[in-house]
Amino acid sequence: MARAYIGFGGNIGDTRQLITDAIVCLALRSELQILAKSCFYQSAPVEATGGDYINAVIEVETELSPYGLLHVCQTIEQEFGRERPYANAPRTLDLDILSFEGVTQNETELMLPHPKIIERSFVLLPLLEIAPEIFLPQWGELKAYLPNVAHQRIEKLPCRNCNCGEKDVYSQSAH
Ligand code: ADP
Ligand code: MG
Repeated sequence: MARAYIGFGGNIGDTRQLITDAIVCLALRSELQILAKSCFYQSAPVEATGGDYINAVIEVETELSPYGLLHVCQTIEQEFGRERPYANAPRTLDLDILSFEGVTQNETELMLPHPKIIERSFVLLPLLEIAPEIFLPQWGELKAYLPNVAHQRIEKLPCRNCNCGEKDVYSQSAH
């Protein structure tokens, strides 16, 4: 079993609902289990066009290979109407594998860890929310990169209906 992180983003339609539905689709698959989900974040486009994006990150445990997980992610993108008219076009739903336990590769079809993690607040913030101490061999502690992206506009949206992602609330209620 391997631990992996998947980043979600989109800026066409009700992205919050689309991400929620996509996470349910993933949860229904027997090849992986969802271990954690960040809150939603609203961010300004970075190297992209269109309106603000909604983003989130999940942690999964899976028996799939890295390419197997990529195939699952791309299948879900297609199911949710993803089109690629041009690079960095507005998108209904984008799923990127941010890291896959212990795997480092630089293949065009699947770069691991995702090379843009440390450049984007919309990846770093939700990722650090669910994995505050995350360390990747090529970059070290990811929280060290927060100052580099501090100028990128991003807002954490309040969690609705549940306290998912609010680990403090869990630990307080456990006592
Ligand atoms: P974006 O770079 O904006 O996410 P796309 O979602 O259209 O653009 O992805 C372009 C290509 O990036 C895909 O064909 C996919 O094979 C490749 N790719 C490379 N590394 C990764 C990764 N870590 N996660 C997801 N896709 C990746
Ligand atoms: Mg992508």
